[in-house]
Amino acid sequence: MTDSRPNVAIVIPVFNEEPVLPELFARLEALFRANPDCSWRAVFVNDGSRDRSVEMTRAQSLRDPRFELVELSRNFGFQGALAAGLAHARDADAAVTMDADLQDPPEVIPDLVSAWRSGAEVVRAVRRSRQETGLRRAGFDLFHAVFGRLTDFPIEANTGTFGLLGRPALEAFAQLPERNRFFPGLRAWIGFETADVAYDRQERAAGRPKQTFRRLVRYAVDGFFSFSYLPLRFLTYSGILVSGLGFALGLFFIVKRLLGIETATTGFTTLVSLVTFLGGIQLIGIGVLGEYLGRVYDEVKQRPIYLVKPPRR
Ligand code: UDP
Ligand code: MG
Repeated sequence: MTDSRPNVAIVIPVFNEEPVLPELFARLEALFRANPDCSWRAVFVNDGSRDRSVEMTRAQSLRDPRFELVELSRNFGFQGALAAGLAHARDADAAVTMDADLQDPPEVIPDLVSAWRSGAEVVRAVRRSRQETGLRRAGFDLFHAVFGRLTDFPIEANTGTFGLLGRPALEAFAQLPERNRFFPGLRAWIGFETADVAYDRQERAAGRPKQTFRRLVRYAVDGFFSFSYLPLRFLTYSGILVSGLGFALGLFFIVKRLLGIETATTGFTTLVSLVTFLGGIQLIGIGVLGEYLGRVYDEVKQRPIYLVKPPRR
């Protein structure tokens, strides 16, 4: 008898998550047990962990083959690991994407699945609350405010990676070739019927965040530049504005000369300020161009987004 239940894969990138894994395994097992109406599997993508995460996942997978391990050849970062897991789960009817640290509670997954079963192809888990405070929190809020307003594909504030993709959405993801991957943005870009499920984001179960603040900033900048031409447009506009001002200023001095109005040759401060101001604008402009150029360079190199380790001999 073939299994007619939907095949749901849970994709989890793992980087040095040794302290949370036992609880994660236990809570996933409980989830599987409590929801026998799906055929479950969990795809753990090891993103070059240097602790015992791999050994622990391998042991778990021997105990219960529904737990699978995909090992990357080194640390590719969260986005690379996620892409690897989604590619691995392409034959599933639906794939859940979540963090290993239990900030995304597995107990929400049945709600994601039922939203999918009632017709949505993309399900986003929306945070009703979040635990981060201080600088990290302010950074998240600022990012969502800016990103939501300025990009061509606004993402819902309070959504992150946690969610579900149905088969067509998984296929769509597999068609996205870009190397600079910003998951929530790409998820907005592919479209499809989308549903939201509210949940309370938890505190990290154990260990320290693996995404350092610097990494998060880079991630935000990446997301911004890969979804918006606005910085370029802004440059064009400020160029037009500044040259307009320069033209008006020139005109002003010519007219003054023609009318024979004499002024003392002062204006050193003005000159110095103008020169440094314009120099600054030009450097910023080169920097913005560089951001795009670097991304273009990354794309044309066509390097794979991740590499999978061969199975152990
Ligand atoms: N992660 C990863 N590769 C990395 C960094 C993080 O696969 O280089 C994983 C990590 O194990 C976790 C998820 O990405 O499952 C989210 O990381 P974390 O909780 O540290 O970041 P947060 O988004 O909560 O700040
Ligand atoms: Mg986390």
